[in-house]
Amino acid sequence: MSDAGENVIEVHELSKSFGGKTVVDRLSMAVKKGTIHGFLGPNGSGKTTTIRMLCGLLTPDSGTGTCLGLDITRDGERIRRRVGYMTQRFSLYQDLTIRENLEFVARIHGLKDPKKRASQAIEKLGLGGREKQLAGNLSGGWKQRLALGACTLPDPDLLLLDEPTAGVDPKARREFWAEIHALAADGLSVLVSTHYMDEAERCHEIAYLAYGKLVVSGSVDDVVAASGLQAWMISGPNVHQLQGELERLDGIDLVAPFGASLHVCGHDAALLEQSLAPYAARSDIRCVSGEATLEDAFIYLMNASKDNFDDG
Ligand code: ADP
Repeated sequence: MSDAGENVIEVHELSKSFGGKTVVDRLSMAVKKGTIHGFLGPNGSGKTTTIRMLCGLLTPDSGTGTCLGLDITRDGERIRRRVGYMTQRFSLYQDLTIRENLEFVARIHGLKDPKKRASQAIEKLGLGGREKQLAGNLSGGWKQRLALGACTLPDPDLLLLDEPTAGVDPKARREFWAEIHALAADGLSVLVSTHYMDEAERCHEIAYLAYGKLVVSGSVDDVVAASGLQAWMISGPNVHQLQGELERLDGIDLVAPFGASLHVCGHDAALLEQSLAPYAARSDIRCVSGEATLEDAFIYLMNASKDNFDDG
C-alpha cells in the first residue's frame, strides 16, 4: 500500500518496440502519491504505449516498474482493479442513459448497492437532472465528464487519463480540470497525457517525451529553468515577418510566434540583448525582455532532441 510521500508509479528503463521500431526507449519516471503528473509529447511519442504498460495491458520488452506498489509485468489484473483508466475515445455505452452506464460500472466492479453508487457519482459530477439522458446524446465535454465519473466510481487509487480532453471545448476542459484538482486534493494520484499547454501548466509535475525518450521532467518552473532560456517579446504590426531575420542573429536559439507577438529566446542574456538592441530602439514595434514560458521551453527542447536524433 502507498504511504504519504511514496511513488505511485515508478518505472526503470522501460522499453517497447513494435515491428522493430522502438516507441518507448529506456523510460524511467516516477509519479508521487497525491499529485497530478502531466504526460506531454507530440503524437506518436509513446505516451499511450507507456500508460498501457503501466496498467499491464501491454508487456514491456525490457525494464521494470511498479504501479501502486505492484509489479507492472506480473500484477496487471490487480493494478487494473485499483486504477481508473480513461482514454480519449468515449468508452461507455452510447445507448444507455447516464444512470444506466454508472450502475453498470458499479455492477461490473462488484460494488454493493450500485444504484446508490450511481446516485453519488451523478451528484458529485454535477450530472443531476441529466441522468436519464442517453450517453450518446451528450456533448463531448459532458461525455468525458461522465467517463471520468465512471472511472472514479470504484474509488481507484490512481487515474491514468490518456488525452481525456482532446477535442473538448475550453469551458468543459476547465471544468474537467477543476474536477481533477478536486480529486487530487482528496488524495487521488493522476497521470494525464495532454497536448494542451494550459493543461500542462496545471500539473504539479510534468514529463515530456519525444521519440519514446524522456526529454525533461519536473515542475513547470524546473522545466523552464532546465531549458536555460532567456526570453524577449516582440509585438506590433506585422512582427511575424521579422521571424526569418531574427533567427539569423547571433545568440538567438528560438523564435516562436505567440498570437500577435514573437517570443525570441537564447541562452546568453547579454548577446541576446545586443542582437535585439536595434529592435528595442524601434518606435513602430515593442521589444522587451520577459520570462521564458513552458511553451518556449518545450519548443526548444523538442528541437534540440530532434537534432540529437538527426545526428544519431
Ligand atoms: P502517443 O500516445 O504519444 O501518441 P503511442 O504510444 O500511441 O504515442 O504510439 C507510439 C508509436 O507506436 C506510434 O508510432 C504508433 O503508431 C506505434 N504503435 C502504438 N501501438 C502500436 C501497435 N499495437 N502496433 C504497432 N505500432 C504501434
